[in-house]
Amino acid sequence: MLNEELKKLEKEVHSCKACPLFESRINTVFSDGSSSAKIVLIGEAPGADEDKLGKPFVGRAGKLLDELLKLAEINRQEDLYIINTLKCRPPQNRKPKKEEKLACEKFLKKQIELVNPKVIVLCGATAMESFLDKSLKISKVRGSVFEIENRKFVPIFHPSYLLRQHSKEENAPRSLTVKDLKMIKKMTLF
Ligand code: SF4
Repeated sequence: MLNEELKKLEKEVHSCKACPLFESRINTVFSDGSSSAKIVLIGEAPGADEDKLGKPFVGRAGKLLDELLKLAEINRQEDLYIINTLKCRPPQNRKPKKEEKLACEKFLKKQIELVNPKVIVLCGATAMESFLDKSLKISKVRGSVFEIENRKFVPIFHPSYLLRQHSKEENAPRSLTVKDLKMIKKMTLF
């Protein structure tokens, strides 16, 4: 039933023309992972590789995400349902516009409602701004748990940002992200 509803929604996304991004997309990017996962991870929008393959987080940033998930012992295909705030690629990977996010929001909300996860991971500032106070800085609040309308949200750094952060120090962004992911995994165990 759940998968049927998601398939129906995916079809809707596939033919969506609610914002101008439909004109330049190769593919819509709906989701990856498991619809029965306890964690929904939300990124920003598809990039070039995602647009080509129709899946989220499959480019360089996605590969880094895979490495970090492995270190946190999170199985990408079983423990996560991965989505983006936008389902179509913004040209030149620019940031999503407010009106594009508004047009696409209904799909994002419906995916969350259907999967009904224990924790929602907000990957990067764009995903964070869709749910939390826009004045918050990800560098200050990453790893914090926000509870809104009975849902738990945890912001983490976006892997595109982490691609430029190479330090392996304990308090460096990559190590902090692994720490955040381990905590998120723990939150799903109880
Ligand atoms: S980004 Fe979202 S709202 Fe815009 S065309 Fe694609 S699916 Fe529709």
